[in-house]
Amino acid sequence: MSIPYAWADHRLLAGAEGQLLFGVEDVSLFHLGREAAEVLARWRAVEPLLLDQAPAPDREVLEEFRRARVLVPVGPGRRRPSPVPSAREPLSTLVLEVAQDCNLACRYCYADGGTYRGAPRLLRPELARRAARYLVEASGPHSEVTLVLFGGEPLMNVPAVRAAVEEAERAGRAAGTTVRFSLTTNGTLVTDEAAEFLGAHRVSVSVSLDGPPDVHDANRPTRAGAGSYAAARRGLARLLRSPRAPVAARVTLPPSQWGRAGEVFDHLIGLGVHEVGIAPASPVTRAFLPTEEQEDLLLREFGALADRFLGAADRGQVLPFSNLLDLLARIHVGASRSAPCGAGLGYLALDTEGRFYLCHRLVGEEPFRVGDLGSGPRPARVRECLEAMAAPRA
Ligand code: SF4
Repeated sequence: MSIPYAWADHRLLAGAEGQLLFGVEDVSLFHLGREAAEVLARWRAVEPLLLDQAPAPDREVLEEFRRARVLVPVGPGRRRPSPVPSAREPLSTLVLEVAQDCNLACRYCYADGGTYRGAPRLLRPELARRAARYLVEASGPHSEVTLVLFGGEPLMNVPAVRAAVEEAERAGRAAGTTVRFSLTTNGTLVTDEAAEFLGAHRVSVSVSLDGPPDVHDANRPTRAGAGSYAAARRGLARLLRSPRAPVAARVTLPPSQWGRAGEVFDHLIGLGVHEVGIAPASPVTRAFLPTEEQEDLLLREFGALADRFLGAADRGQVLPFSNLLDLLARIHVGASRSAPCGAGLGYLALDTEGRFYLCHRLVGEEPFRVGDLGSGPRPARVRECLEAMAAPRA
């Protein structure tokens, strides 16, 4: 029986030497030759598409689209292929919830003020050391792994940050594994000592900063309701004093501020950060659902930044706009991925109680708890979670 196919989400773009096809889900990019472009034009509106109904020359090209996962199978009960290439994916990234607590009360926080819907708590340094050892031990053939120090606000718990970094370095040296570190902070609790430690251990720091004071303070008040821009900027200045690893700004903008994305970018570059990434706020309430006009505004702002990126590239320079840099790196690697993100696929999060979750955004969500530090993540449970998350095509 023939398998019916549908076109995966894709965009056609004009390239310098013909059409380009961008696969949205895989972040893949293909140059279409004349024949492929003609076949696509003939069949693009046909769904479901049965390959054996196409004449032989077209069928060969359609088979190419199928292999590139631009054409995907559809039908009742048919799901994406399993996103779990192996039940025992070696660990390459561990996100450590150093503090499930925070001194801010950001309007768009998906983690309920850093607590992940539980009581505020901190990771014990001893557990941080065990987690660091586990990352190195579970890394299998990887010669390089990443430990992400996260929260809440991780600098509410500097003893655990120090314990995790120092133990990971020691375990990495013993095993011949390079451990890279990153830390995401709201910037308000960065002391000279903390900045010195992070610099000395080459921890890449991302500071959550939303731009000029009025934009930032509207989004990121303290628990007492005051603005946090001034404190975050002081913390950033300490980090930039002697950076031995990049310091990036991570921006989160609700739809009402999307029209200011370019201005926010320029403000933060002016503060001296090495890279700026801008993300739309998660729709934690209806107020964060965008209108069509707001979506157009964001596209226009990002389009203008992309034009500036191209202009800089023509001059042999790099505009440090992380959104584009990350996208280009993924396209350049060209790996076709069967899952939209790395959650559970060599990437796990550990909460303050030593429980593994599929990713940091799912901490505290029981259906996505996949094991604990004592016995390790359970591959069968990881597989179940990933299978459940793979949305049916039809
Ligand atoms: S700093 Fe981060 S964890 Fe704290 S409230 Fe803001 S978004 Fe949530």
